[in-house]
Amino acid sequence: MTPEPFDIAILGGGFGGTITALVLHRLGFRVIVIDRGVHPRFAIGESSTPIADLVLRDLAIRYDLPRLLPLVKYGTWKAAYPDVTCGLKRGFSYYEQPQGERFAPREDHANELLVAASHDNARSDTHWFRADVDAFLAREVTDAGIPYLDRTEVTIGATGPWLLMARRIGEMRPITAQFLIDGTGDAGVLKGYLGLRDQAERLKTHSRALFAHFAGVKRWGPLIEERGANVTDHPFPTDDAAQHMVLPRGWMWQLRFDTDVTSLGFMLDTRHDPLDTSLSPSEEWEEWLRRFPSIADQLAGAALVDPPGGLRRTGRIQRWIDRAAGPDWALLPHSAGFIDPLNSTGIAHTLCGIEKLALAFERSFGKPALADEMATYAEAVSREIELIDELISGCFDAMPHFPAFVTWSMVYFAVVTSYEHGRSMGEIPPGTPFLGADSEARWSMVRGARQKLMDRLSRIEDKASESSARSEADAWLSEHVCQAIAPYNIAGLCNPQVKNMYRYTAADKG
Ligand SMILES: Cc1cc2nc3c(=O)[nH]c(=O)nc-3n(C[C@H](O)[C@H](O)[C@H](O)COP(=O)(O)OP(=O)(O)OC[C@H]3O[C@@H](n4cnc5c(N)ncnc54)[C@H](O)[C@@H]3O)c2cc1C
Repeated sequence: MTPEPFDIAILGGGFGGTITALVLHRLGFRVIVIDRGVHPRFAIGESSTPIADLVLRDLAIRYDLPRLLPLVKYGTWKAAYPDVTCGLKRGFSYYEQPQGERFAPREDHANELLVAASHDNARSDTHWFRADVDAFLAREVTDAGIPYLDRTEVTIGATGPWLLMARRIGEMRPITAQFLIDGTGDAGVLKGYLGLRDQAERLKTHSRALFAHFAGVKRWGPLIEERGANVTDHPFPTDDAAQHMVLPRGWMWQLRFDTDVTSLGFMLDTRHDPLDTSLSPSEEWEEWLRRFPSIADQLAGAALVDPPGGLRRTGRIQRWIDRAAGPDWALLPHSAGFIDPLNSTGIAHTLCGIEKLALAFERSFGKPALADEMATYAEAVSREIELIDELISGCFDAMPHFPAFVTWSMVYFAVVTSYEHGRSMGEIPPGTPFLGADSEARWSMVRGARQKLMDRLSRIEDKASESSARSEADAWLSEHVCQAIAPYNIAGLCNPQVKNMYRYTAADKG
């Protein structure tokens, strides 16, 4: 059988693979998408951010994809696509959950942190119900006339050009492509074929996941209000957010969709709580609820609804592939590596990767310069993964000391809001590495602040220390970190007067 020739073959039909296909099709390339699964299907990675929305907006405008534009804001999404489920995400909420105790609200909000990411519901970010969103995008691909093969297993036969044997429901279809993009995420098809190495041992984050979708999860805001919390100080309803329950050695995400479904997942530090396979995932889940009674209160009466096989559980989840691209292949960011869902960097990272690839292809596809472009892409993705690791691992280290966690979070928010504002003002051009990960000045700020965090954590190790000594150490850390982030603090972070309630960090998405 004569192989069907394509310019670019994309493995993986998640939102990463399909948006890449739509963009490259607009650039005039012959593209094919191949996925081994079938939509709609359960997928994780659901909480978008202002940067994700800005980059998606820029992609939709630059590549004339007007049907993607409504997805960048909650208001336009609901108006244009009421059947594609999403959730309202006004910002980020964090609550300290001491082991064995119920959350006890404080007048000074010292055990809470709320950071707004949008001004109102209409302009808000969203949680993507991936079963619907990915199915919608796959339909956009086929409606654009791009071949999309689902339920297809691929074998790579040769390189230069790539020869792919695509087996779909017993039928074999040979395909050739000049360039291959791997959007298969942790399945890592190209990693296996090219013998790429996972260098996760160099990463500082050590976490594993336990997660599912539930119906009937009680809202946290009313629960803590009953316990005396002053929720009128909150910059937005705390549940309309990426809600983080901060445990001493891990955290839980809570993402509410507009249906009765909530995505819940524990991320656990494997250095303290390694995977114990003698417990089933549901036994382990119950054990965590026993340890954190306020979370158990929220889940009383809730029922697991997805995925079909019940709770998903992983071992250590970090990946960092040693090379993200070659002259005729590239890994999308989620295939090149992953750190942890804390603070929702994944969707934005993937979209930034698509943007970089599209710009490189616009300039250099079919020219010798593409090899250099791909080397630059690989370097950028690698630095991005490293920076995310630095920011997230600092959070894990600080988790046992909530004030230190709050202070370190200021570093994270300074990095993201300064990048976001720079992009929205046109000062940071499209294609700039995610979070400015190529900037030595940023790295130096983050590393300096991290050193202070580690100094503080080693000064006062545990809760048994005198509380006055702990407060002194926290004040010392805060002073140094706030000084360090000052050049990036365009959002009023590090302000003791707002008592951990940040209202005005959002750039306007227009
Ligand atoms: C536990 C967890 C929680 C997360 N939470 C968040 C969050 O809240 N916010 C956020 O921004 N990011 C989050 N992420 C990251 C997010 O999941 C990724 O950024 C996102 O899924 C990347 O999308 P993608 O389409 O590139 O890859 P994926 O979503 O991984 O899609 C891969 C696709 O490849 C297909 N595939 C697999 N193997 C093959 C094969 N052999 N051949 C063909 N096709 C194949 C699969 O069927 C799938 O459709 C999270 C990640 C994890 C692991």
